[in-house]
Amino acid sequence: MSFISMENITKRFSKAGGPAVNGLDLSINKGEIITLLGPSGCGKTTTLRMIAGFEHPSGGRITIDGVSVFNDSHSIPPEKRGIGMVFQDYALFPHMTIIKNVMFGLNKWSSREKKKRAQEVLELVGLEDYADRYPTQLSGGQQQRVALARALAPKPHVVLMDEPFSNLDAGLREKMRYDVTNILRRAETTAIMVTHDQKDAFAVSDRVVVMKDGIVQQIAEPKEMYRCPKNCFVAEFVGKTNLLKGKLDADGQHFHTNIGKVMLPQQFNRHSLDEVKLSIRPEGCRLSDEGAYCGAVERVTYGGEYQELHVRLHNEPDLRKDPMLIYAPVEQDVEVGTTVSFDIKSELVALVE
Ligand code: ATP
Repeated sequence: MSFISMENITKRFSKAGGPAVNGLDLSINKGEIITLLGPSGCGKTTTLRMIAGFEHPSGGRITIDGVSVFNDSHSIPPEKRGIGMVFQDYALFPHMTIIKNVMFGLNKWSSREKKKRAQEVLELVGLEDYADRYPTQLSGGQQQRVALARALAPKPHVVLMDEPFSNLDAGLREKMRYDVTNILRRAETTAIMVTHDQKDAFAVSDRVVVMKDGIVQQIAEPKEMYRCPKNCFVAEFVGKTNLLKGKLDADGQHFHTNIGKVMLPQQFNRHSLDEVKLSIRPEGCRLSDEGAYCGAVERVTYGGEYQELHVRLHNEPDLRKDPMLIYAPVEQDVEVGTTVSFDIKSELVALVE
């Protein structure tokens, strides 16, 4: 049985507009880190707030650790759901020391137990030497670890994190993704994060839930979601890709497109719809003198670890179409205006709805 289950959860804020969340089904295992990922307004925060109990679903059922916390006839209040929250701005009390901030959620514990537990979680997040400081005397990353320690202190069933990395600059953000994941793993806590950032989601999660317009598009492990996106929206939301129209070959192993026949991976999603497209990741195209596809380089941009080539394919001269995006190693000299040829690695190709 799943540790947290959401069945057919719908949320309507008004009769007139469409639902903010529409028929969401989600089962989460104990100790799993799950991320709700999607663009602004897709319903991810509303979903998180319904799990926490800050928002009532318009219909559906939610169970946490075998206890029904919401159904048609009852709703358990947030403070009785065993939830720990980490907010975007950390919400630390500026007039309290770090240890007092962490002890805040433990009001039913004896003062000895409170102090012992607070020291324990501060050690878990690597801030045992900062107990007597105030939040303003800590860096952004340290403040975030205090917020996580405070959320973990009462040993909640689940930690909910709303855009926890959005206030951090790029370098620190990367480090905190790593630290937060380690802390959650060490605490063996189930966690649900909300973000619109694909890198945050992939770095931290066991599974990712991509949402659009209140509807779940796909639930998968990061690698599977990147390599086998279910539809065009997911393919483009979780990374750069080339989407090509075409038709599945009678042999079931190739896809006919304007640029030619492309070999499909051994395993691919078989869609019932006729209107399927091919998604080819830019790193799935490898420059090669004898490549099966060729075109003229329109633009070269440097991405750091690779260079991005925009290639106008010879068999697709339609200028209204986007050029093909290809990643090439930085050490390779590629000039605008020259012709390049390349192969396509079928492992980075997927059929999408
Ligand atoms: P963001 O990343 O911008 O926070 P989100 O994916 O978290 O977006 P939600 O905040 O869950 O999206 O909002 C989903 C939809 O519900 C949006 O259309 C939003 O305008 C609407 N909505 C959210 N809260 C309320 C509210 N209290 N009253 C009315 N509509 C709301």
